[in-house]
Amino acid sequence: MNQRVKAAVLREIGAPLGIEEIELADPGPGELLVEIEAAGVCHSDLHYLQGGLRCPLPVVPGHEGAGRIVGMGPDVREGFSIGDRVALLWRPNCGRCAQCIAGRPIMCELGPVQAQSGGLLDGTSRMRDSHGETVHHLLGVSCFSERVVVPERSVVYVPDDIPPEIAAIAGCAVITGVGAVRNVVGSCLGDAIVVIGAGGVGLSALMGAAAAGAHPLIAVDVDEAKLSLAARVGATATVDGRDGDAVEQVLALVPGGVAWVIEAVGRPETMASAVSMLRPGGTAVAVGLGRVGQTFDVPINELVQRQKRVVGSLYGSSIPQLDLPRIFELYRSGALPLDLLLGERYPLERIGDAFEALQHESLGRSIVLPGA
Ligand SMILES: [Zn+2]
Ligand SMILES: [Zn+2]
Repeated sequence: MNQRVKAAVLREIGAPLGIEEIELADPGPGELLVEIEAAGVCHSDLHYLQGGLRCPLPVVPGHEGAGRIVGMGPDVREGFSIGDRVALLWRPNCGRCAQCIAGRPIMCELGPVQAQSGGLLDGTSRMRDSHGETVHHLLGVSCFSERVVVPERSVVYVPDDIPPEIAAIAGCAVITGVGAVRNVVGSCLGDAIVVIGAGGVGLSALMGAAAAGAHPLIAVDVDEAKLSLAARVGATATVDGRDGDAVEQVLALVPGGVAWVIEAVGRPETMASAVSMLRPGGTAVAVGLGRVGQTFDVPINELVQRQKRVVGSLYGSSIPQLDLPRIFELYRSGALPLDLLLGERYPLERIGDAFEALQHESLGRSIVLPGA
């Protein structure tokens, strides 16, 4: 039985989100109906709203959400039950393609299919507007909605004691930042690490690097409030880009450069700075998305003569089914103080205000509560 739900719809690049009643089809084979408890407002959503990233329109955005299973299609195989709480993932893992088998589920071959079609894994949508026209899914999540239909391969179980807001941000910003440390940097006890950008992803990377024993651990941003938050989550030094060249400031703190830079901004200038901050043999890890087609310059001889490396990491290069339970455990233990990442809460109707706040450098992750 199809149902009507309230959702935020983007009809045109640059237009405000409209709150509409849309028709949601029943979950198909291997799909779940999830009632959204909380949805994070992320810069990647803003890229879609402004056209820096592209997706089929009209679309219900939101890719960082958590909720409760309230319905199940046939052939759900993962042992989920009605009432289970889940975090939603914006990359599915089919478990069968070459990338999934090789242990790189974030590179699952079905991910781009889902992203480009604006549908679920079969490329079709479960949403229609009041005129019967197709409304697309964003990355198979679309959590700026009261309820969603998602593939069971795109969710991870959430224990009852984890707050919905934490579960929501864990599925994107946190796993991206913590995962970059855990899965790309790896062992870093006593290594100098710089994190550029102290938003949700950057702060998560700082928490992960602090927990892993990186030292010194330097946060770079251009916002005083964000830098003081960075210090609270474990940065041993902060660099404000407005006080002069960030590269020079970092090299003054760590003569010779640092072993790792995690770049969570996604701009050409900050990517170039990341490479310049490295010591010989150091690695810059790009985790912040730029606009489609954006590039940056790397001096060739920095790569050859100083053996620097530049690598990319999507979604923390994680295996969400393994990494998310670990993140929840570390949150419980206090090693990842994720509550510090949370900002203001908004009902779905005020989602426009949440994006307004995001563009004016609001502190902490804004959270939309579609049930409020
Ligand atoms: Zn995100
Ligand atoms: Zn796959």
